[in-house]
Amino acid sequence: METIIVSACLLGDNTKYNGGNNYDPRIEKLKEKYNIVPICPESFGGLKIPREPSEIQEPFVVSKSGKDVTNEFNEGAHKVINIVNYMHVKKAVLMDRSPSCGVNKIYNGKFNGTLIPGQGYTARLLKEKGVELFTIDDIDKLL
Ligand code: SF4
Repeated sequence: METIIVSACLLGDNTKYNGGNNYDPRIEKLKEKYNIVPICPESFGGLKIPREPSEIQEPFVVSKSGKDVTNEFNEGAHKVINIVNYMHVKKAVLMDRSPSCGVNKIYNGKFNGTLIPGQGYTARLLKEKGVELFTIDDIDKLL
């Protein structure tokens, strides 16, 4: 079975900034075809659950109260890259709109709820590495 990485919150893990998750039952179909490795870059980087929401303010990542969390995001992203290297991962299903996992859209860095085209911190590194990125809406392409 091919190994893919999936945002842990999509699998139902309570890793979101607010202590919740983004479980989507469509993810179950993937379990029949792939070996799934859950990843949560923000947790991997040492950020707590719950935590303040963060947004990308290039070239930094900043929490809502203004704390620079770039180092934590960077550490988490590199832990995900280590998994990808070690397990020869070529595909990722990630939670769109997240400052870590966003595939097509992220928030604009002003904490006003506005989405812009772009990728999260980890998603960007994964793409640079040649990992193919999917949102939950794209998973039919993987089945
Ligand atoms: S960092 Fe990614 S996996 Fe973790 S809670 Fe945010 S969207 Fe989900």
